Amino acid sequence: MKTIAIIAHDGKKPEMVQFLNENQEILHSKNINIIATGTTGAKTEAAGYKVEKLLSGPLGGDAQIAARIAEGLVDMVIFFRDPLDKHPHEPDIFMLMRLCDVHNVPLATNPATAKLLIKGLV
Ligand code: PGA
Repeated sequence: MKTIAIIAHDGKKPEMVQFLNENQEILHSKNINIIATGTTGAKTEAAGYKVEKLLSGPLGGDAQIAARIAEGLVDMVIFFRDPLDKHPHEPDIFMLMRLCDVHNVPLATNPATAKLLIKGLV
């Protein structure tokens, strides 16, 4: 069982839904457990996936995912950040990305990279 963490900032949520739709065969065909920040999780659920929803990002969802990464419970992170917007929870975002590097967890921050990573699951 592989656990994938999914996070998308508001300006990137449509791209995340599109990404999920484009890769649903892989995501459904594998033994994959999805966790997500609150609002991204709701969108992921609406796209037809079973997902564990954590808190919304600004309320600590990124920090919750970061903690799971530190505990060795996450195998891959797909994090579509919006580089054109400001985020009140920027420290949490950096912490999450830092912990991916500390624990050598694959991290995709845009659809092109996520596409390559997800193919690595096949
Ligand atoms: P959200 O959080 O999925 O609850 O919108 C994402 C984020 O802003 O980090």
